[in-house]
Amino acid sequence: MPQDLLARALETLHAVWGYSAFRGVQEEVVMRALQGGHALVLMPTGGGKSLCYQLPALLRSGVGVVVSPLIALMKDQVDTLRQLGVRAAYLNSALSGAEAAEVERLLKAGELDLLYVAPERLLLPRTLELLDGVEVALFAIDEAHCVSQWGHDFRPEYQGLGVLAKRFAHIPRLALTATADERTRQDIITTLSLEGAPTFISSFDRPNIQYRVQQKGSHKAGPKSDLLSFIRSEYPREAGIVYCLSRKSVDDTAAWLRDQGIQALAYHAGLDSRERSRVQERFLQDEGLVVVATVAFGMGIDKPNVRFVAHLDLPKSMEGYYQETGRAGRDGLPSTAWLTYGLGDVVSVRRMLAQSEAPEAVKRVESAKLDALLAYCETASCRRQVLLTYFGQDLPQTCGNCDNCLNPPRTFNATRQAQIALSAAVRSGNRFGAAHLTDIVLGRETEKVLVQGHHQLPTFGVGKDTSESAWRNIIRQLVALGYLTTDAAGHGSLMVTSKAGPLLRGQEQLLLREETFAGKSTSRPKKQDKDRKEPRPTSQDPLFEALRQLRLRLAREQGVPPYVIFHDATLQEMAARRPQSLSVLQTVSGVGQRKLTQYGEAFLTVLRGQV
Ligand code: ADP
Ligand code: ZN
Repeated sequence: MPQDLLARALETLHAVWGYSAFRGVQEEVVMRALQGGHALVLMPTGGGKSLCYQLPALLRSGVGVVVSPLIALMKDQVDTLRQLGVRAAYLNSALSGAEAAEVERLLKAGELDLLYVAPERLLLPRTLELLDGVEVALFAIDEAHCVSQWGHDFRPEYQGLGVLAKRFAHIPRLALTATADERTRQDIITTLSLEGAPTFISSFDRPNIQYRVQQKGSHKAGPKSDLLSFIRSEYPREAGIVYCLSRKSVDDTAAWLRDQGIQALAYHAGLDSRERSRVQERFLQDEGLVVVATVAFGMGIDKPNVRFVAHLDLPKSMEGYYQETGRAGRDGLPSTAWLTYGLGDVVSVRRMLAQSEAPEAVKRVESAKLDALLAYCETASCRRQVLLTYFGQDLPQTCGNCDNCLNPPRTFNATRQAQIALSAAVRSGNRFGAAHLTDIVLGRETEKVLVQGHHQLPTFGVGKDTSESAWRNIIRQLVALGYLTTDAAGHGSLMVTSKAGPLLRGQEQLLLREETFAGKSTSRPKKQDKDRKEPRPTSQDPLFEALRQLRLRLAREQGVPPYVIFHDATLQEMAARRPQSLSVLQTVSGVGQRKLTQYGEAFLTVLRGQV
């Protein structure tokens, strides 16, 4: 009876997790699994994938076996589940022989609801035999895109998982991933024999993330100090990730932030593995740590209360950008994706691509991906619409929660200036960089200009009515939009492309964004505060702070990250509603039965004391 099943599922959702409703496609996936079916589930990071298999595993008899590639993640998930009163354990190489034997004993005794296991461990004949002997409720294959060679996280062991369909044919298989492209999807279906099973796709929108992009000013300390004022004014003492391209800029930025009084640590592949795990562990345990990192950091970071993700360098593709920014705000609370870039970055990413030795076909794909990202950065319309359109989804209305929606940028007709800059490039032989082109149009008689005879060009000095920074803005957009490109030789020379033809011939008009520099847009967009649906957890609220202190103490006592006890959203709701009894406290989202029993009185003491 589906109705009865649904009622039982909702009851469990409330009793164990303290949530009152399913999110998006969760309900359909849970119902499918409860009825013994297989499924492929595509959800963005933070969309709530875990519940899709955890809940049916609790309701079906037997143990739910979860295949997960990341050891760090397993421990976190198991800690979280144990706090909910769920009997969970993991089997991986991090366990000692005795610990593994104990997990096996629990498994055989039917005393586990969920077992997390690394794929290579699962595929050992010994583990498969062990599973033959116990009742299995379902198999969940997390990060299922790892089966695909096309994906970015290919893991050969994942291809061996095809054995599940043969050996345990009648046990539900749920494959879950946040990477959705068509090829990867097909690989998952084929490898895991999911032909005929439904695919559930949830919206890829992350409405609680505010997307912001700002131009780097021309001053040297610019981007770092913009980052600092962003952190200070919006997220002091909150957790965040700052992405940089090189190890050196990671180290420099982290050190600089520390000098400015921000708790920051560096993370990159050049550090030894002990140091890397130490940083990762501290990021999970501490409340307000900023990790400055290369893209090596992030896989397996499931921390729900990352309040911001900042990019000091341009990501390589929209996919990368979306995945990295997706690490912000898994808890659903307001969070920010903040990116800053300038002319230099645009020129250097274009140059890196031109110099790449990849086969032409690959380069074309990469170049198209980069174009999409640059168009996103330069757009004057709603950023969320641009993002979702790229991922094949529609957002009918503008979002109201990106910088362009909050502070619509002004555009101007840049046709004449574009013609001047492009013609300066053509006339000087497509051999010079942005700085020299700017000197020409501004009519500066620099040594280089004189030596090259460029003071005799017809465009010399005709752009005097436009400021130098405005010229940088224009040239950056011309490069970003593909009217100018760089050569492979790597000197930053800008060449006019065939796209510029109609513009140069006056057959096309060009609208560009006005400059939006730091200072103007560093501060939180104006309309922001009154538009926010939920109040932000501010460190200024003493009750929220007191609840956070209690949570930290309880977490330290048990050696778990604070968010495993309660999420910020839960503390925030407590602070706003101030429940005075266990029965009211239980109605706060995120307070399930076990947590109520375990922590209810302690939190009530704080809630009562502060009224
Ligand atoms: P994913 O694995 O898809 O990245 P998670 O499973 O970690 O996402 O879920 C993200 C967050 O959303 C978690 O903190 C989880 O507790 C919360 N969450 C999931 N489902 C619900 C729900 N139905 N109601 C409220 N919160 C939910
Ligand atoms: Zn918008």
